[in-house]
Amino acid sequence: MRILIADDDLLSLRILNDYINSWGYEVILCRNGDEAWAVLEQENRPNIAILDWMMPGLEGVQICERLRKMNPSRYVYVILLTARSKTEDVIKGLDSGADDYIIKPFHPEELKYRLRIGERIIELEQRIISMASTDYLTGLLNRRAFMERLEAEINRAQRGYNHLGIIIADLDHFKDINDRYGHQVGDRVLQDASRCLTSACRVYDFVGRYGGEEFIICLPGANINETCNIAERMRNMLREQRTVLADNTEVGVTASFGIADMSSGSAMSSDDLIKKADDALYQAKGKGRNQVVIADSK
Ligand SMILES: [Mg+2]
Repeated sequence: MRILIADDDLLSLRILNDYINSWGYEVILCRNGDEAWAVLEQENRPNIAILDWMMPGLEGVQICERLRKMNPSRYVYVILLTARSKTEDVIKGLDSGADDYIIKPFHPEELKYRLRIGERIIELEQRIISMASTDYLTGLLNRRAFMERLEAEINRAQRGYNHLGIIIADLDHFKDINDRYGHQVGDRVLQDASRCLTSACRVYDFVGRYGGEEFIICLPGANINETCNIAERMRNMLREQRTVLADNTEVGVTASFGIADMSSGSAMSSDDLIKKADDALYQAKGKGRNQVVIADSK
């Protein structure tokens, strides 16, 4: 975990650096409040900040206030460090949005355990974020999280004049599996299908559960031929896979695939792209299922 330390007292800064480094954290040192704010403003800001209250430029409390006003997507846990020990100072510090407050001089062990508290809060937040973005049954990205990443990838592709492929896969006659074997078996088939689709991907592709038995895959940088190859690989792997039940019954499933791509320089939206792949999927179903259909290139 990365920790920012801001203190205008260079000796104090060095001592903090040595301790915090020795506890296994990565440290970013700032010699005043303006330097600290320049780091905290960035998108890849550290998760924990230890701020001296009195510094030239922005003071610790002011940085705290700005940070809470900005309300970044990932929380920054702030510990204020100061020689001010009066109750009204402590209250003012915490009121600015600081999570904790340490009065100088302090024992290093105390800081160590207070950092642990901060670390637990940050880890908790990360766990919540990961739970909120994951589909419980399959472990894939849920629809909302997939769409967020897709938007980011489309922006990136458009900036860099790159291709981007999209695959929508729908398991064929899935309702029959549920009706015949029950929902628990249906769930296992979905889990096996998810693993299958994931293992057919390249490392930078990502898979989401789009609906009940519908999956969506984003392939950054892939043109339509590459997208088609990967969809065919998925189709074949899925067709050969079996979910084996307790009585050794083997349950197999196939899927229909609709694929589309965004060519370099395109101004397509995620909705346009998904609509194209979805139309192609509809055709694949109509043509007898267990096949890949490429969207019309318009
Ligand atoms: Mg100071």
